[in-house]
Amino acid sequence: MQKEPLLMTPGPTVVPPAVLAKQSQAMIHHRTQEYGEIFAELNQNLRDVFQTKNLVLTFPAAGTGGLEAAVVNFFSPGDKVLVISVGVFGERFAAIAQAFGLSVDKLAIPWGEAADPEAIEARLKRMAYKGVFVTHNETSTGVVNNIAAIGKILADTDTLFVVDAVSSLGCIDLRTDAWRVDVAITASQKGLMAPPGLAFLSISDKAWAAAERATCPRFYWDVFSVRKAMEKSPPQNPYTPAISLVRGANEALRMILAEGLPQVFARHYRLAEATRRAIEAMGLELFAKVGARSDCITSIAMPPGLNAENIAKLMELHYGVIVAGGQESLKGKILRIGHMGYVNEHNILQVIAALEQSLKEENYPLRLGTGITAALEYWGQNQGL
Ligand SMILES: *Cc1c(COP(=O)(O)O)cnc(C)c1O
Repeated sequence: MQKEPLLMTPGPTVVPPAVLAKQSQAMIHHRTQEYGEIFAELNQNLRDVFQTKNLVLTFPAAGTGGLEAAVVNFFSPGDKVLVISVGVFGERFAAIAQAFGLSVDKLAIPWGEAADPEAIEARLKRMAYKGVFVTHNETSTGVVNNIAAIGKILADTDTLFVVDAVSSLGCIDLRTDAWRVDVAITASQKGLMAPPGLAFLSISDKAWAAAERATCPRFYWDVFSVRKAMEKSPPQNPYTPAISLVRGANEALRMILAEGLPQVFARHYRLAEATRRAIEAMGLELFAKVGARSDCITSIAMPPGLNAENIAKLMELHYGVIVAGGQESLKGKILRIGHMGYVNEHNILQVIAALEQSLKEENYPLRLGTGITAALEYWGQNQGL
């Protein structure tokens, strides 16, 4: 029997049926009370999920558009910024900053490792920066950076703390205010389990003050235009919003808040931990180093002779599970399983089974059921399944 494949990529992620249903409702006009009420609820739900008292702005855009908005609104050409790069998305943030003429210093960390907050502190002692850019969850490697520790270093300085939370928000804890994050950026299609197309930015008072001074050219991304429209009652958008996506994302945020943030984070940990145990039980190595491993994405180092692209292809064609290979220099070398958002234990078992069978097809020595058993045993001891 043909069923739709199971999407276990590092984004986009599976969208719950309730969210899809909301998106298929008849179109409404955006300058109406009805739309304004939905948008007002979205704005409050975003604040709750970002764990912030500040405004969270919505742009119809991919996550990269959100990153660009963070560069053009708070910085000026020539501004010295430090980009902490632990993978592809750190590199992208640096490239965007360079494209707008910022003076970028990069602290590049070997892929698979997280940034050491002490190394960042040492850099900041030697040089004054207008901003520090950090990727929370590096999707290309399955590594998590310690935002709380970096935030502590930057608190009460003039340096803006800018965090790419595109693949972390809604999966792992990000306390925007408590951890002193000035600008956090995310997108709709990963942990927030909505379709792609919306980018969200939370902005602290310190960042709003910086925006007053910033001279990078901007029009569509201008945060003041967005804020001005949001101050209307009910709130509005400066230009035609992605109405269906706003409806869908609002429903997804409702679901996240109804489950409860601590419960959502605990579920991601429980699923990630079972996945990691399954992988190691199968004799494979996790690509991310101990202590840096993400609960959003599990990255698996391919043993010699195995190509991650082939395994991913088999998993999709023979077992209906879609995962991702590595990006850039990691192409073929790692396999990435996304377990973000609308994911439960059954989905993890499906992906592990597909991986076991595909490895077997490629003549990797394995007793079928090894990974599944490790996952089930872990949940058995930890009230999972
Ligand atoms: C996916 C992702 C992005 C880019 O998002 P797009 O919507 O593809 O532009 C940026 N940063 C991180 C950490 C991501 O995971």
